[in-house]
Amino acid sequence: MAISREIAPLPEDDDRIREALADAHLPSLLPALAQLTGDLTLLRDDLFPGTVVLTDPQGGLSPEAQEAARELALRTLAAWRDGGAPPAPALSREQARRMMDYLIGEHVSDEYLPLLLEELAFAETDARAPGWRLEEIAPGRRLRAVIIGAGMSGILAAHRLQQAGVPFTVIEKNGDVGGTWFENTYPGARVDSSNHAYSYSFAQKYDWPYHHSPQEVLLEYFRDCADEFGIRGNVRFNTEVLSAAFDDERCLWTVTVRGPDGAEEAIEAEAVISAVGQLNRPKLPDVAGLGNFAGAAFHSARWDHGAELAGARVGVIGTGSSASQFIPHVAGEAAEVRIFQRTPNWYAPAPNYHERVSGGFLWLLRHVPGYAQWYRFWLFWAISDGFLPMVEVDDGFRPGDEVTGAANRQLRDLLAGSLTQQLAGRPDLIEKAMPRFPPASKRIVVDNGSWPRTLLRDNVRLITTPIREITPRGVATEDGEEHELDALIYGTGFQASHFLTPMRVTGRGGVDMHKQWGGDARAYLGVTMPNFPNFFFLYGPNTNIVVNGSIVYFSECEVQYVLECLRLLLEGGHRALDCRRDVHDAYNERIDAGNLKRAWGVSSVPSWYKSESGRVAQNWPFTLLEYWRQTKTVDPADYALL
Ligand code: NAP
Repeated sequence: MAISREIAPLPEDDDRIREALADAHLPSLLPALAQLTGDLTLLRDDLFPGTVVLTDPQGGLSPEAQEAARELALRTLAAWRDGGAPPAPALSREQARRMMDYLIGEHVSDEYLPLLLEELAFAETDARAPGWRLEEIAPGRRLRAVIIGAGMSGILAAHRLQQAGVPFTVIEKNGDVGGTWFENTYPGARVDSSNHAYSYSFAQKYDWPYHHSPQEVLLEYFRDCADEFGIRGNVRFNTEVLSAAFDDERCLWTVTVRGPDGAEEAIEAEAVISAVGQLNRPKLPDVAGLGNFAGAAFHSARWDHGAELAGARVGVIGTGSSASQFIPHVAGEAAEVRIFQRTPNWYAPAPNYHERVSGGFLWLLRHVPGYAQWYRFWLFWAISDGFLPMVEVDDGFRPGDEVTGAANRQLRDLLAGSLTQQLAGRPDLIEKAMPRFPPASKRIVVDNGSWPRTLLRDNVRLITTPIREITPRGVATEDGEEHELDALIYGTGFQASHFLTPMRVTGRGGVDMHKQWGGDARAYLGVTMPNFPNFFFLYGPNTNIVVNGSIVYFSECEVQYVLECLRLLLEGGHRALDCRRDVHDAYNERIDAGNLKRAWGVSSVPSWYKSESGRVAQNWPFTLLEYWRQTKTVDPADYALL
């Protein structure tokens, strides 16, 4: 299937347009129409949507203002159609800024404008494409790349290398592309960011069936991207990377892989791009008796679809994002579910979490040029840097406090109020399910009420007594109770801080990557590290975001930076670049200090954001703008050029 980005002609029937407009997202529609027609008077003061709030899609427009906006849109669309549906006139920066100001309800500053223009990404533009080709800037130069992993980041890197004419091979351990969306097939798996923003900026899909689509839709999107970009032929499936070793003299990487037939093979490449993700090696709980259970037992990312859960007694260890998605489904068919919770979660209300995109809105996205981009832009802004103050640590914070500051308290009160309301009448459950730590200490789980509804079910029991051991019959808790089970599911997450395990990677002088890290993965911009020339990480150390933005955005920035590194090598006639130790260390000091100003950095609750030492090795603590700026170009002074 292809990714649908075709715009269909508007019908002659105005009633059909009117009908669709009933479902319109109005704040993004009027800028789209202003762009389409070049008529900025459409951005009327009386139809000004106000500040962007995700839970208030119509931006606080009164019903009368909404009706007026729909009428205006209808007249504009009909006139545009009757005028022959001409292409949109060229958009100047100032016009774009005016539309953005209108859409987000605040003035877009000069520093954000270039980033936001890039993110708008109209169909005919791809501002993050390399803009150079190997044969043009370094004719005859040999540069081959190995990409490890064909998930979201790997597909992207492959596409960009292809655009630059750099030969590459992708090594993928699974039988298909898609990474996390290929592996996580548990019931209820769906994207918890808004789907229209969780997609490549340059390959937007207009017809997402849900605001947060299920796993199979995401997998299909990434499959379609791999097909459309024409990179599938370069992927070696069912093949695992065992090691990568740098040869100082030849300035060359040897990547050793094991193919589907078990045979090992060495592949030589001038550059290696790791796109293995952070959340793909399942972590089993460190509890006594693991493996003793006699019934079906499996991890959420290795779902056993053959296990008979209907009518069964099912135990679940863990209550993170994965468990919060599959437990409601399991509870719907199991005889009983016992949830073993070590730490509760904060739940962010997302009313449209399970909702289909309404028919009229879908229709408009397909028929109004530019509308999908402006809607994506609205979402991008809604989950953008404006959230950061809510997770900031104020000066007065003391370890153990339930909030990190004034803005964090506001967020806490909102989330606590929502949970209390949804569990009204059950103080026992409120007591167990209410977190006593600052929101964003760990991942805030997205929910539309399905979690509290599940806890309220007669066949569900939330157990907070610590686990003593796993027995052949079930799970024994420290109060002496043995919970007899037919099946046990581990929703216990991933070995996120064990970057690139179990691969062995050796750099200059044979230095081992994991030894150099000493248990605490660090990188410069999350992409390069000293002693490992031309080895690049995507979604590497400190590139995960907690409350602002999407991982796709980060990957696009990272890949752009990698391509700029390659360009630097080619244009300068260098063989490799090696990150300078002082640059790397100073950068990481800043990152560590930044994370200590965020809820996840100061909180003592367990989370996958921290390595065993307690250092936050996963998260980016600053703005999206700052990461974009830092990865836009490469400063040659940051590297030893070999
Ligand atoms: P997770 O957030 O790391 O949650 C693991 C759960 O297992 C936690 O509740 C943890 O409790 C519990 N646990 C671990 N060891 C335990 C033990 N020994 N005894 C008792 N409980 C134990 O893992 P996840 O839910 O798979 O999610 C990982 C990340 O993947 C998410 O944060 C998110 O970034 C991503 N994800 C995204 C989506 C989506 O977009 N739709 C869906 C799923 C996952 P503690 O809290 O006490 O450690």
